[in-house]
Amino acid sequence: MSEEIRVRASAWSKLFDCPHKFEWENLLGHYKPSGMRALLGTAIHAGTAAFDQGRIDHSDITPDDAAGAVVDAIHHPEFEVDRNQDDLTISDAERIGITLSTKYCLDVSPHYKFRSVEMKTKPMDIDCGGGVIIRLTGTMDRSRVRQSLDGLRVGISDLKSGATAVQKGAARTKGHAAQIGTYEMLFEHTTGETISDDGVIIGLKTKGTLEIATGTISNAKETMVGTETQNGLIEFAAEMFRSGLFIPNPSSILCSEKYCSRWESCLFRAR
Ligand code: SF4
Repeated sequence: MSEEIRVRASAWSKLFDCPHKFEWENLLGHYKPSGMRALLGTAIHAGTAAFDQGRIDHSDITPDDAAGAVVDAIHHPEFEVDRNQDDLTISDAERIGITLSTKYCLDVSPHYKFRSVEMKTKPMDIDCGGGVIIRLTGTMDRSRVRQSLDGLRVGISDLKSGATAVQKGAARTKGHAAQIGTYEMLFEHTTGETISDDGVIIGLKTKGTLEIATGTISNAKETMVGTETQNGLIEFAAEMFRSGLFIPNPSSILCSEKYCSRWESCLFRAR
């Protein structure tokens, strides 16, 4: 008898940060309430996504409408928020979110032609062997499918917000290849088309100087599927799901009481 394990496409790349944390949160269902900075990120993405979807739909959406979506997301979160977890007030979150969302709508989005925002993907099965099947489902959260202006190339753009999302004038791309590679793989699986352009990270810096910058990631899909001579991350993932052994990673930047819900009980946490 086979066992099917459902994993959200947007959560899949977290497996490669700390598998032990991924197991706890995504397979065993333990979550921490999010903090104000996570809420700010969600709000910025709500505003920018509304704007880009409006452009695709040829509606008359404005940056002010996007700012409204930011404020609405801050005041009506769809998940549990611990408002004391971060040093960020609601009014600061509104100010930062509106500033970045407006800047994105005016200065960044018009440079791109988007085909879809947070595209829904066709379920994709990964056979791990031993009767274990992973089914990747859901949407490409916070990402867009991008078409080059000449219409010849297709690529994935992923928005990343955070205190260090921009460094020295460029979006921080380090650590994002697995996410972009996952979305490239799912796009090809869903549409039958081939990704033909680099992945783009659009970084929105939420602390200090509020800035937006981009960075590119080439051959991200190879990170997932591998090459003729090297296994991709899917092979490593399959081994973990087949064996049930999800290795800890105390070197993860998220290995802290603040970001990991397994912290209290984890034998391997960073000390
Ligand atoms: S405490 Fe650290 S090592 Fe343990 S699960 Fe969390 S992130 Fe991983």
